[in-house]
Amino acid sequence: MSALLFRSTNGQSPAVNLREAFLRGQAPDRGLYFPEKFPQLTPEEIAAFAKLPYHEIAFRVLSKYTDGIIPAAALAAICADAYNFEIPLEKVYDRVVVMRLDQGPTASFKDFAARMMARLMGRFLAEDGKQLTILTATSGDTGAAVAHAFHNVPGIRVIVLFPIDEVSLSQRKLMTTLTGNVRTVAIDGKFDDCQAMVKQAFADASLKHLPLSSANSINIGRLLPQSVYYFYAASRLAKPGEEIVFSVPSGNFGDMMGAMVAKQMGLPVRKIIASVNDNDAFPKFLASGHYEKISPSRNSVSNAMNVGHPSNLARLVALYGGQMDETGKILRQPNLDAMRRDLFSSSVSDDRTRATIREVWNKYELLLEAHGAVAWRGFEDWLETESLNGLPAVILETANPAKFPEEIEKTIGFAPDVPPAMTAAIKLPEDFEHMGADYAKFKSYLLTRN
Ligand SMILES: *Cc1c(COP(=O)(O)O)cnc(C)c1O
Repeated sequence: MSALLFRSTNGQSPAVNLREAFLRGQAPDRGLYFPEKFPQLTPEEIAAFAKLPYHEIAFRVLSKYTDGIIPAAALAAICADAYNFEIPLEKVYDRVVVMRLDQGPTASFKDFAARMMARLMGRFLAEDGKQLTILTATSGDTGAAVAHAFHNVPGIRVIVLFPIDEVSLSQRKLMTTLTGNVRTVAIDGKFDDCQAMVKQAFADASLKHLPLSSANSINIGRLLPQSVYYFYAASRLAKPGEEIVFSVPSGNFGDMMGAMVAKQMGLPVRKIIASVNDNDAFPKFLASGHYEKISPSRNSVSNAMNVGHPSNLARLVALYGGQMDETGKILRQPNLDAMRRDLFSSSVSDDRTRATIREVWNKYELLLEAHGAVAWRGFEDWLETESLNGLPAVILETANPAKFPEEIEKTIGFAPDVPPAMTAAIKLPEDFEHMGADYAKFKSYLLTRN
């Protein structure tokens, strides 16, 4: 059988298979790869997930994409190895549940994608006998997850750029204390500056020999594994065929697109709520049809979501029949009515975020950090517009509160417990480069530092 093909959202590069899309990261025309059509899971296949452990669900979902690329037994082993931690579903009231995606080695949901990606990438490179530099910009959590996932994978050098003033000390230490094949570069600038430098490096013909790949959410290999926990949550909470609601704290919209992918593959989803902080370009677009990226991006307590122009919007727009280029320009308007049927989006200010952390703690003794609180409040905003009608709803908590101890303590008066993996990292010595948001400097670093 022929392998599934992936097309660029800019429509100017040839369609490629998963392996190629994965190793390139971004398409040559600067678009993002997206499946030409989505493989389907039948209602029976989805119903069978109810009795399966997470890694087995991951295998059944992802094998629809890897047919002809990775042998089934190898994929099954990778899934079992990558997903060896808990995914708590905490009931809050009625059928409203918080899904904690924060039990991986760097205490953020980004471990789910990074751990799968690292294993697949390591496998592809070993098959080819090649070497690769993974270049990634982080607003806090990606860097740590990617650095940990790729640490000591042969053939791979990892370079992480982060905005020096926008990440918490624990977030930073989870990146800068790794040695060996992992390098971290602190940039005097914002996340968008880091992301722009990474994009420029990818577009730079004089760096083609390195070669570079991305672990940012623009990589399709990052996106597909993020569809699995939606199937998992539904398998534990929804009856066969029953719809479910998800509220996803969103920055680059990779997590939210995971929910979209699950829906496209056949999961009955009533609504996907994309909850954002003050970076509200998307809710405004959804309401008006007019897209204006926010530049520079706005700082907020949910710092991993300080994204002025979410790169995955190009994929969302493509899914609804439109076209958006990498600068955020809409070349063809998507079907906004259809988008509004499937999606809801609201913007949650820092004041509302902090009030939510307090309220949810006081009312339910449930501890959320800022990202999860944005998702919670976005869900409540949606409830003011539509009724849940007894369906299950899942609010995603994407980071462990212990990553933001100062903020939590300020908000509710005590500091959260720190998971053991984090305690260990925080004690190690740090090692990172520090430079201005200057592409020429960064390029020379890329070329000289092995
Ligand atoms: C990255 C991140 C997000 C946003 O995810 P996107 O896929 O970029 O929308 C939300 N919460 C946390 C804790 C994150 O690290």
